[in-house]
Amino acid sequence: MNIGNGEKMVAGTWSGPFQVPASIPDRADIVIIGGGIIGVSTAWFLARRGVDVVLCEKGHIAGEQSSRNWGWVRQQGRDPRELPMMIESMRIFRELENEIGESVGFSQGGCLFAARDEKQLSSYHEWLKLVSDYDLDTRVIDANELGRLVSGASVKWLGAMYTPSDGRAEPHKAAPAIARAAIRSGATILTSCAVRGIESSAGTVSAVITEHGPIRTSVVLCAAGAWTSMFCRSLGIAVPQLNVRGTVARTAPTEKILTGNLFDRRLGMRLRDDGGYTVAHGSVLDHGLTPSTFRYAFKFLPALMKEYKVLRLRFGKDFFDELATPKKWALDKESPFEKSRVLNPDPSPGILKGIRRNLDAVFPHMAGVEIVEAWAGIVETSPDVVPMIGEVGDVSGFHIATGFSGHGFGIGPGAGKALAAMLTGDDNSIDLTPFRLSRFFDGSPIRPMSAI
Ligand SMILES: Cc1cc2nc3c(=O)[nH]c(=O)nc-3n(C[C@H](O)[C@H](O)[C@H](O)COP(=O)(O)OP(=O)(O)OC[C@H]3O[C@@H](n4cnc5c(N)ncnc54)[C@H](O)[C@@H]3O)c2cc1C
Repeated sequence: MNIGNGEKMVAGTWSGPFQVPASIPDRADIVIIGGGIIGVSTAWFLARRGVDVVLCEKGHIAGEQSSRNWGWVRQQGRDPRELPMMIESMRIFRELENEIGESVGFSQGGCLFAARDEKQLSSYHEWLKLVSDYDLDTRVIDANELGRLVSGASVKWLGAMYTPSDGRAEPHKAAPAIARAAIRSGATILTSCAVRGIESSAGTVSAVITEHGPIRTSVVLCAAGAWTSMFCRSLGIAVPQLNVRGTVARTAPTEKILTGNLFDRRLGMRLRDDGGYTVAHGSVLDHGLTPSTFRYAFKFLPALMKEYKVLRLRFGKDFFDELATPKKWALDKESPFEKSRVLNPDPSPGILKGIRRNLDAVFPHMAGVEIVEAWAGIVETSPDVVPMIGEVGDVSGFHIATGFSGHGFGIGPGAGKALAAMLTGDDNSIDLTPFRLSRFFDGSPIRPMSAI
Protein backbone atom coordinates (compact mmCIF):
# COMPACT_ATOMS: atom_id res chain seq x y z
CA MET A 1 0.00 0.00 0.00
CA ASN A 2 1.14 3.52 -0.74
CA ILE A 3 2.09 5.45 2.38
CA GLY A 4 2.62 9.13 1.57
CA ASN A 5 5.73 11.21 1.75
CA GLY A 6 7.04 9.95 5.07
CA GLU A 7 6.01 12.93 7.19
CA LYS A 8 6.52 11.69 10.76
CA MET A 9 4.05 13.75 12.79
CA VAL A 10 3.23 10.92 15.19
CA ALA A 11 6.51 9.01 14.87
CA GLY A 12 8.35 12.24 15.72
CA THR A 13 7.49 11.41 19.34
CA TRP A 14 9.85 8.45 19.40
CA SER A 15 12.30 8.97 16.56
CA GLY A 16 14.36 11.95 17.74
CA PRO A 17 17.74 11.77 19.48
CA PHE A 18 17.66 10.51 23.07
CA GLN A 19 18.02 13.25 25.71
CA VAL A 20 20.46 11.88 28.28
CA PRO A 21 20.34 13.62 31.70
CA ALA A 22 23.49 15.54 32.66
CA SER A 23 22.97 14.46 36.28
CA ILE A 24 20.29 12.81 38.40
CA PRO A 25 19.00 13.75 41.87
CA ASP A 26 20.29 11.53 44.67
CA ARG A 27 16.90 11.37 46.45
CA ALA A 28 13.16 11.96 45.96
CA ASP A 29 9.93 11.56 47.93
CA ILE A 30 8.48 9.45 45.12
CA VAL A 31 10.03 7.90 41.98
CA ILE A 32 7.87 6.99 38.99
CA ILE A 33 9.09 4.42 36.47
CA GLY A 34 7.72 5.15 32.99
CA GLY A 35 6.92 8.33 31.08
CA GLY A 36 3.64 7.38 29.41
CA ILE A 37 0.31 9.14 30.05
CA ILE A 38 -0.05 7.37 33.43
CA GLY A 39 3.42 8.27 34.70
CA VAL A 40 3.41 11.90 33.54
CA SER A 41 -0.15 12.55 34.78
CA THR A 42 0.76 11.17 38.21
CA ALA A 43 3.94 13.27 38.27
CA TRP A 44 1.92 16.37 37.38
CA PHE A 45 -0.61 15.85 40.17
CA LEU A 46 2.12 15.02 42.69
CA ALA A 47 4.23 18.05 41.79
CA ARG A 48 1.16 20.30 42.14
CA ARG A 49 0.79 18.99 45.71
CA GLY A 50 4.39 20.01 46.39
CA VAL A 51 5.73 16.44 46.40
CA ASP A 52 9.37 16.01 45.37
CA VAL A 53 8.81 13.57 42.48
CA VAL A 54 11.27 12.16 39.95
CA LEU A 55 10.08 10.32 36.84
CA CYS A 56 12.49 8.00 34.99
CA GLU A 57 11.75 7.08 31.38
CA LYS A 58 14.08 4.69 29.56
CA GLY A 59 13.45 6.26 26.13
CA HIS A 60 11.27 9.19 25.11
CA ILE A 61 8.24 10.63 26.93
CA ALA A 62 5.21 8.89 25.36
CA GLY A 63 7.52 6.89 23.09
CA GLU A 64 5.42 3.74 23.45
CA GLN A 65 1.62 3.25 23.81
CA SER A 66 0.84 6.80 24.88
CA SER A 67 1.66 8.43 21.53
CA ARG A 68 0.65 5.53 19.28
CA ASN A 69 -2.97 5.12 20.35
CA TRP A 70 -6.15 6.12 18.50
CA GLY A 71 -6.71 9.19 20.69
CA TRP A 72 -10.21 8.26 21.88
CA VAL A 73 -11.25 9.79 25.20
CA ARG A 74 -14.40 7.87 25.88
CA GLN A 75 -16.69 6.93 28.72
CA GLN A 76 -19.02 4.73 26.69
CA GLY A 77 -18.58 0.98 26.51
CA ARG A 78 -16.28 0.80 29.55
CA ASP A 79 -16.27 -1.66 32.38
CA PRO A 80 -18.33 0.11 35.09
CA ARG A 81 -15.39 -0.22 37.51
CA GLU A 82 -13.50 2.32 35.40
CA LEU A 83 -16.26 4.90 35.17
CA PRO A 84 -15.61 7.03 38.29
CA MET A 85 -11.98 7.49 37.21
CA MET A 86 -12.97 8.05 33.58
CA ILE A 87 -15.63 10.64 34.40
CA GLU A 88 -13.01 12.51 36.45
CA SER A 89 -10.54 12.16 33.56
CA MET A 90 -13.05 13.74 31.19
CA ARG A 91 -13.42 16.66 33.59
CA ILE A 92 -9.62 17.07 33.71
CA PHE A 93 -9.33 16.88 29.90
CA ARG A 94 -11.96 19.63 29.54
CA GLU A 95 -9.82 21.99 31.62
CA LEU A 96 -6.39 20.69 30.65
CA GLU A 97 -5.47 23.09 27.87
CA ASN A 98 -6.38 26.10 30.03
CA GLU A 99 -4.49 24.72 33.02
CA ILE A 100 -1.27 23.86 31.19
CA GLY A 101 -1.41 26.56 28.51
CA GLU A 102 -0.73 24.13 25.65
CA SER A 103 -2.85 22.41 23.02
CA VAL A 104 -3.43 18.68 23.30
CA GLY A 105 -6.01 18.64 20.49
CA PHE A 106 -8.89 17.92 22.88
CA SER A 107 -12.41 18.22 21.58
CA GLN A 108 -15.74 16.70 22.65
CA GLY A 109 -16.89 15.54 19.24
CA GLY A 110 -18.80 12.52 20.52
CA CYS A 111 -18.28 8.80 20.26
CA LEU A 112 -20.27 6.36 18.11
CA PHE A 113 -20.30 2.55 18.15
CA ALA A 114 -22.29 1.71 15.03
CA ALA A 115 -24.35 -1.49 14.91
CA ARG A 116 -24.80 -3.68 11.87
CA ASP A 117 -27.25 -6.09 13.51
CA GLU A 118 -29.83 -6.37 16.29
CA LYS A 119 -27.49 -8.38 18.53
CA GLN A 120 -24.96 -5.54 18.56
CA LEU A 121 -27.67 -2.96 19.15
CA SER A 122 -29.13 -4.89 22.08
CA SER A 123 -25.64 -5.21 23.65
CA TYR A 124 -25.60 -1.39 23.78
CA HIS A 125 -28.95 -1.37 25.61
CA GLU A 126 -27.51 -3.93 28.04
CA TRP A 127 -24.49 -1.72 28.72
CA LEU A 128 -26.77 1.26 29.41
CA LYS A 129 -28.61 -0.78 32.06
CA LEU A 130 -25.29 -1.76 33.64
CA VAL A 131 -24.20 1.87 34.08
CA SER A 132 -27.57 3.41 34.96
CA ASP A 133 -26.15 4.65 38.30
CA TYR A 134 -23.85 7.06 36.48
CA ASP A 135 -24.88 10.38 35.07
CA LEU A 136 -23.81 9.78 31.46
CA ASP A 137 -25.31 11.30 28.32
CA THR A 138 -24.95 7.99 26.45
CA ARG A 139 -27.96 6.79 24.44
CA VAL A 140 -28.79 4.39 21.64
CA ILE A 141 -29.70 6.25 18.46
CA ASP A 142 -31.46 5.05 15.31
CA ALA A 143 -30.19 4.93 11.75
CA ASN A 144 -31.67 8.33 10.86
CA GLU A 145 -29.90 10.16 13.67
CA LEU A 146 -26.69 8.30 12.91
CA GLY A 147 -27.00 9.36 9.27
CA ARG A 148 -27.08 13.01 10.40
CA LEU A 149 -23.89 12.51 12.47
CA VAL A 150 -21.85 10.57 9.87
CA SER A 151 -22.00 11.43 6.20
CA GLY A 152 -21.15 9.39 3.13
CA ALA A 153 -21.19 5.86 4.62
CA SER A 154 -22.10 2.96 2.34
CA VAL A 155 -23.08 0.69 5.25
CA LYS A 156 -26.74 0.36 6.28
CA TRP A 157 -26.25 0.62 10.03
CA LEU A 158 -29.24 -0.07 12.28
CA GLY A 159 -28.18 2.56 14.80
CA ALA A 160 -25.43 3.23 17.28
CA MET A 161 -24.45 3.81 20.87
CA TYR A 162 -23.69 7.52 21.12
CA THR A 163 -22.13 9.70 23.81
CA PRO A 164 -22.07 13.35 22.67
CA SER A 165 -19.75 14.39 25.55
CA ASP A 166 -17.05 11.82 24.70
CA GLY A 167 -14.01 13.22 23.04
CA ARG A 168 -10.64 12.90 21.42
CA ALA A 169 -7.15 14.29 21.88
CA GLU A 170 -3.86 14.04 20.00
CA PRO A 171 -1.73 11.39 21.70
CA HIS A 172 1.56 12.70 20.30
CA LYS A 173 0.80 16.03 22.00
CA ALA A 174 -0.93 15.12 25.27
CA ALA A 175 1.61 13.22 27.40
CA PRO A 176 4.59 15.41 26.36
CA ALA A 177 2.53 18.54 27.20
CA ILE A 178 1.54 17.12 30.61
CA ALA A 179 5.21 16.21 31.24
CA ARG A 180 6.22 19.82 30.53
CA ALA A 181 3.48 21.02 32.90
CA ALA A 182 4.81 18.64 35.57
CA ILE A 183 8.31 20.09 35.16
CA ARG A 184 6.91 23.63 35.48
CA SER A 185 5.22 22.51 38.73
CA GLY A 186 8.52 21.23 40.12
CA ALA A 187 8.78 17.57 38.98
CA THR A 188 12.07 16.20 37.67
CA ILE A 189 11.62 14.24 34.46
CA LEU A 190 14.57 12.16 33.27
CA THR A 191 14.58 10.54 29.82
CA SER A 192 17.11 7.94 28.60
CA CYS A 193 17.06 6.85 32.21
CA ALA A 194 16.10 3.20 32.58
CA VAL A 195 15.35 1.88 36.04
CA ARG A 196 17.07 -1.49 36.40
CA GLY A 197 15.57 -2.48 39.73
CA ILE A 198 14.90 -1.43 43.30
CA GLU A 199 16.75 -1.87 46.58
CA SER A 200 15.11 -2.31 49.96
CA SER A 201 16.07 -2.12 53.58
CA ALA A 202 14.09 -3.48 56.56
CA GLY A 203 11.22 -4.49 54.29
CA THR A 204 10.79 -1.05 52.71
CA VAL A 205 11.93 0.37 49.38
CA SER A 206 15.15 2.33 49.89
CA ALA A 207 16.21 3.26 46.34
CA VAL A 208 15.64 2.78 42.63
CA ILE A 209 18.73 1.84 40.69
CA THR A 210 18.86 3.62 37.35
CA GLU A 211 21.38 3.20 34.58
CA HIS A 212 22.90 6.51 35.78
CA GLY A 213 23.04 5.55 39.46
CA PRO A 214 20.74 5.22 42.49
CA ILE A 215 17.97 7.58 43.60
CA ARG A 216 17.10 7.13 47.29
CA THR A 217 13.36 6.97 47.93
CA SER A 218 10.81 5.04 49.97
CA VAL A 219 7.93 5.17 47.46
CA VAL A 220 8.00 3.86 43.89
CA LEU A 221 5.27 3.72 41.24
CA CYS A 222 5.94 1.33 38.38
CA ALA A 223 3.93 2.66 35.42
CA ALA A 224 6.07 0.85 32.88
CA GLY A 225 3.30 -0.16 30.45
CA ALA A 226 4.20 -3.30 28.52
CA TRP A 227 7.37 -3.74 30.61
CA THR A 228 5.69 -3.91 34.01
CA SER A 229 5.29 -7.67 34.11
CA MET A 230 8.96 -8.23 33.31
CA PHE A 231 10.12 -5.59 35.80
CA CYS A 232 7.94 -7.07 38.54
CA ARG A 233 8.98 -10.63 37.73
CA SER A 234 12.59 -9.64 38.44
CA LEU A 235 11.36 -8.68 41.93
CA GLY A 236 9.47 -11.97 42.37
CA ILE A 237 6.02 -10.41 41.73
CA ALA A 238 3.70 -12.05 39.17
CA VAL A 239 1.77 -9.53 37.06
CA PRO A 240 -0.37 -11.25 34.40
CA GLN A 241 -0.04 -9.19 31.27
CA LEU A 242 -0.29 -10.01 27.55
CA ASN A 243 0.65 -7.88 24.55
CA VAL A 244 -1.30 -7.23 21.37
CA ARG A 245 0.02 -5.30 18.36
CA GLY A 246 -2.16 -2.50 17.02
CA THR A 247 -1.52 -1.13 13.50
CA VAL A 248 -2.69 2.43 12.90
CA ALA A 249 -2.76 4.83 9.93
CA ARG A 250 -3.26 8.55 9.49
CA THR A 251 -4.87 10.17 6.44
CA ALA A 252 -4.17 13.55 4.93
CA PRO A 253 -6.63 16.32 5.86
CA THR A 254 -9.87 15.78 3.96
CA GLU A 255 -13.62 16.30 3.96
CA LYS A 256 -15.30 16.34 7.39
CA ILE A 257 -17.59 13.30 7.65
CA LEU A 258 -17.88 13.17 11.46
CA THR A 259 -16.89 15.29 14.45
CA GLY A 260 -15.51 12.65 16.80
CA ASN A 261 -14.93 8.90 16.92
CA LEU A 262 -16.66 6.11 15.01
CA PHE A 263 -16.34 2.38 15.59
CA ASP A 264 -17.70 -0.11 13.12
CA ARG A 265 -16.92 -3.82 12.85
CA ARG A 266 -14.49 -2.97 10.03
CA LEU A 267 -13.11 0.38 11.10
CA GLY A 268 -12.05 2.50 14.05
CA MET A 269 -11.88 6.10 12.93
CA ARG A 270 -11.27 9.45 14.61
CA LEU A 271 -11.19 13.00 13.31
CA ARG A 272 -7.81 14.60 14.00
CA ASP A 273 -7.16 18.23 14.88
CA ASP A 274 -5.35 18.69 11.53
CA GLY A 275 -8.50 17.66 9.61
CA GLY A 276 -7.26 14.14 8.75
CA TYR A 277 -8.41 10.88 10.34
CA THR A 278 -6.64 8.32 12.50
CA VAL A 279 -7.84 4.98 11.16
CA ALA A 280 -7.47 1.38 12.30
CA HIS A 281 -8.95 -2.00 11.56
CA GLY A 282 -12.11 -2.58 13.56
CA SER A 283 -11.72 -6.26 14.24
CA VAL A 284 -8.19 -7.62 14.50
CA LEU A 285 -6.29 -8.54 17.64
CA ASP A 286 -2.79 -9.36 16.51
CA HIS A 287 -0.98 -11.34 19.22
CA GLY A 288 2.51 -12.77 18.89
CA LEU A 289 2.64 -15.89 21.09
CA THR A 290 5.28 -15.74 23.83
CA PRO A 291 6.15 -17.83 26.87
CA SER A 292 3.94 -15.35 28.84
CA THR A 293 0.95 -16.38 26.69
CA PHE A 294 1.28 -19.90 28.05
CA ARG A 295 2.23 -18.82 31.59
CA TYR A 296 -0.94 -16.74 31.92
CA ALA A 297 -3.19 -18.56 29.40
CA PHE A 298 -5.64 -19.76 32.01
CA LYS A 299 -6.21 -16.29 33.48
CA PHE A 300 -6.64 -14.79 30.01
CA LEU A 301 -9.01 -17.49 28.77
CA PRO A 302 -12.23 -15.47 29.40
CA ALA A 303 -10.83 -12.42 27.55
CA LEU A 304 -9.50 -14.53 24.68
CA MET A 305 -12.82 -16.40 24.35
CA LYS A 306 -14.64 -13.08 24.17
CA GLU A 307 -12.35 -11.92 21.36
CA TYR A 308 -11.71 -15.26 19.61
CA LYS A 309 -13.35 -14.15 16.35
CA VAL A 310 -10.92 -11.26 15.93
CA LEU A 311 -7.80 -12.90 17.37
CA ARG A 312 -4.88 -13.48 15.01
CA LEU A 313 -2.10 -15.51 16.59
CA ARG A 314 1.47 -15.43 15.29
CA PHE A 315 4.32 -17.68 16.34
CA GLY A 316 7.87 -16.51 15.72
CA LYS A 317 10.25 -13.74 16.71
CA ASP A 318 8.24 -12.49 19.73
CA PHE A 319 8.40 -15.95 21.30
CA PHE A 320 12.16 -16.32 20.92
CA ASP A 321 12.86 -12.68 21.93
CA GLU A 322 11.04 -13.18 25.24
CA LEU A 323 12.67 -16.56 25.75
CA ALA A 324 16.12 -14.99 25.30
CA THR A 325 15.42 -12.14 27.75
CA PRO A 326 16.90 -12.83 31.19
CA LYS A 327 14.46 -13.06 34.14
CA LYS A 328 16.89 -11.28 36.46
CA TRP A 329 19.91 -9.10 35.83
CA ALA A 330 22.72 -7.43 37.74
CA LEU A 331 21.81 -3.85 38.70
CA ASP A 332 25.31 -2.56 37.88
CA LYS A 333 25.23 -3.77 34.28
CA GLU A 334 23.16 -2.91 31.20
CA SER A 335 19.59 -4.20 31.65
CA PRO A 336 16.99 -5.30 29.06
CA PHE A 337 15.36 -1.84 29.40
CA GLU A 338 18.39 -0.05 27.96
CA LYS A 339 18.73 -2.64 25.19
CA SER A 340 15.22 -1.76 23.97
CA ARG A 341 14.74 1.93 24.69
CA VAL A 342 11.61 2.14 22.56
CA LEU A 343 9.26 -0.74 21.81
CA ASN A 344 8.68 0.02 18.15
CA PRO A 345 6.93 -2.81 16.32
CA ASP A 346 6.46 -2.66 12.56
CA PRO A 347 2.92 -2.02 11.36
CA SER A 348 1.44 -5.17 9.81
CA PRO A 349 1.37 -4.82 5.97
CA GLY A 350 -1.67 -7.14 5.82
CA ILE A 351 -3.61 -5.08 8.36
CA LEU A 352 -2.65 -1.84 6.58
CA LYS A 353 -4.10 -3.27 3.36
CA GLY A 354 -7.23 -4.17 5.34
CA ILE A 355 -7.49 -0.61 6.71
CA ARG A 356 -7.31 0.84 3.19
CA ARG A 357 -9.83 -1.69 1.87
CA ASN A 358 -12.27 -1.13 4.74
CA LEU A 359 -11.97 2.66 4.63
CA ASP A 360 -12.74 2.68 0.91
CA ALA A 361 -15.60 0.21 1.35
CA VAL A 362 -17.29 2.02 4.25
CA PHE A 363 -16.64 5.54 2.89
CA PRO A 364 -16.33 5.14 -0.91
CA HIS A 365 -15.64 8.84 -1.45
CA MET A 366 -12.50 8.49 0.77
CA ALA A 367 -10.92 6.16 -1.81
CA GLY A 368 -8.62 8.88 -3.09
CA VAL A 369 -7.55 10.13 0.32
CA GLU A 370 -3.87 9.57 0.93
CA ILE A 371 -2.59 7.66 3.95
CA VAL A 372 0.36 9.78 5.04
CA GLU A 373 1.72 7.87 8.02
CA ALA A 374 1.41 4.41 9.54
CA TRP A 375 2.77 2.97 12.77
CA ALA A 376 2.17 0.21 15.29
CA GLY A 377 2.00 0.04 19.06
CA ILE A 378 1.96 -2.70 21.64
CA VAL A 379 -1.21 -2.70 23.75
CA GLU A 380 -0.71 -4.39 27.11
CA THR A 381 -3.74 -5.94 28.67
CA SER A 382 -4.81 -7.51 31.94
CA PRO A 383 -6.95 -10.68 32.16
CA ASP A 384 -10.20 -8.74 32.83
CA VAL A 385 -9.22 -5.78 30.64
CA VAL A 386 -9.13 -3.23 33.45
CA PRO A 387 -5.99 -1.89 35.12
CA MET A 388 -3.97 -3.31 37.99
CA ILE A 389 -3.28 -0.63 40.60
CA GLY A 390 -1.87 -0.63 44.12
CA GLU A 391 0.95 -1.61 46.41
CA VAL A 392 2.33 -5.06 45.54
CA GLY A 393 4.94 -7.56 46.69
CA ASP A 394 6.57 -8.09 50.07
CA VAL A 395 8.52 -4.83 50.13
CA SER A 396 6.41 -1.90 51.28
CA GLY A 397 6.43 1.25 49.17
CA PHE A 398 6.41 -0.51 45.77
CA HIS A 399 3.27 0.19 43.68
CA ILE A 400 2.09 -0.58 40.18
CA ALA A 401 -0.32 1.10 37.75
CA THR A 402 -0.53 -0.94 34.60
CA GLY A 403 -2.76 -3.08 32.37
CA PHE A 404 -4.85 -0.20 31.04
CA SER A 405 -5.78 -2.60 28.23
CA GLY A 406 -6.33 -0.53 25.11
CA HIS A 407 -8.14 2.33 26.83
CA GLY A 408 -5.61 3.96 29.16
CA PHE A 409 -5.09 7.16 27.20
CA GLY A 410 -8.49 8.67 27.89
CA ILE A 411 -8.47 7.62 31.52
CA GLY A 412 -4.82 8.65 32.02
CA PRO A 413 -5.25 12.06 33.66
CA GLY A 414 -8.00 10.71 35.96
CA ALA A 415 -5.77 7.77 36.89
CA GLY A 416 -2.87 10.17 37.53
CA LYS A 417 -4.97 12.18 39.98
CA ALA A 418 -6.17 9.05 41.81
CA LEU A 419 -2.63 7.62 41.91
CA ALA A 420 -1.22 10.84 43.34
CA ALA A 421 -3.78 10.60 46.16
CA MET A 422 -2.96 6.92 46.71
CA LEU A 423 0.80 7.54 46.88
CA THR A 424 0.54 10.45 49.29
CA GLY A 425 -2.03 8.67 51.46
CA ASP A 426 -4.48 11.53 50.97
CA ASP A 427 -8.21 11.01 50.86
CA ASN A 428 -9.00 9.43 47.54
CA SER A 429 -12.42 10.12 46.13
CA ILE A 430 -11.88 7.22 43.72
CA ASP A 431 -11.96 3.72 45.18
CA LEU A 432 -8.98 1.80 43.81
CA THR A 433 -9.72 -1.56 45.45
CA PRO A 434 -11.47 -2.99 42.33
CA PHE A 435 -8.08 -2.68 40.62
CA ARG A 436 -6.02 -4.60 43.17
CA LEU A 437 -3.59 -7.11 41.59
CA SER A 438 -4.62 -9.83 44.07
CA ARG A 439 -8.01 -10.25 42.32
CA PHE A 440 -6.21 -12.51 39.85
CA PHE A 441 -4.82 -14.75 42.60
CA ASP A 442 -7.48 -14.86 45.35
CA GLY A 443 -10.08 -16.92 43.49
CA SER A 444 -12.17 -13.91 42.41
CA PRO A 445 -13.97 -14.65 39.12
CA ILE A 446 -12.20 -13.11 36.13
CA ARG A 447 -14.94 -11.44 34.07
CA PRO A 448 -13.91 -9.10 31.25
CA MET A 449 -16.84 -6.70 30.70
CA SER A 450 -15.38 -4.62 27.89
CA ALA A 451 -13.27 -5.20 24.81
CA ILE A 452 -9.48 -4.66 24.59
C1 LIG B 1 -2.72 1.05 18.82
C2 LIG B 1 -3.27 1.50 20.14
C3 LIG B 1 -4.51 2.13 20.17
C4 LIG B 1 -5.04 2.56 21.40
N1 LIG B 1 -6.15 3.35 21.41
C5 LIG B 1 -6.56 3.95 22.56
C6 LIG B 1 -7.60 4.91 22.56
O1 LIG B 1 -8.13 5.29 21.52
N2 LIG B 1 -8.00 5.44 23.74
C7 LIG B 1 -7.42 5.07 24.92
O2 LIG B 1 -7.86 5.54 25.97
N3 LIG B 1 -6.38 4.21 24.93
C8 LIG B 1 -5.92 3.66 23.79
N4 LIG B 1 -4.86 2.80 23.80
C9 LIG B 1 -4.26 2.40 25.07
C10 LIG B 1 -3.37 3.48 25.64
O3 LIG B 1 -2.48 3.96 24.68
C11 LIG B 1 -2.62 2.90 26.83
O4 LIG B 1 -3.51 2.24 27.71
C12 LIG B 1 -1.89 3.98 27.61
O5 LIG B 1 -1.14 4.78 26.74
C13 LIG B 1 -0.99 3.33 28.65
O6 LIG B 1 -0.19 4.33 29.22
P1 LIG B 1 0.99 3.93 30.18
O7 LIG B 1 1.58 5.19 30.66
O8 LIG B 1 0.51 2.93 31.16
O9 LIG B 1 2.03 3.10 29.25
P2 LIG B 1 3.05 3.55 28.13
O10 LIG B 1 2.57 4.68 27.34
O11 LIG B 1 3.41 2.31 27.38
O12 LIG B 1 4.30 4.07 28.96
C14 LIG B 1 5.13 3.22 29.70
C15 LIG B 1 6.53 3.81 29.63
O13 LIG B 1 7.38 3.13 30.56
C16 LIG B 1 8.70 3.13 30.04
N5 LIG B 1 9.46 2.10 30.75
C17 LIG B 1 9.23 0.77 30.78
N6 LIG B 1 10.14 0.15 31.57
C18 LIG B 1 10.93 1.12 32.07
C19 LIG B 1 12.06 1.09 32.94
N7 LIG B 1 12.51 -0.04 33.49
N8 LIG B 1 12.67 2.27 33.24
C20 LIG B 1 12.19 3.44 32.71
N9 LIG B 1 11.15 3.51 31.86
C21 LIG B 1 10.52 2.36 31.55
C22 LIG B 1 8.46 2.81 28.56
O14 LIG B 1 9.56 3.20 27.77
C23 LIG B 1 7.18 3.61 28.26
O15 LIG B 1 7.46 4.86 27.69
C24 LIG B 1 -4.32 2.32 22.59
C25 LIG B 1 -3.07 1.69 22.55
C26 LIG B 1 -2.53 1.31 21.32
C27 LIG B 1 -1.15 0.72 21.29
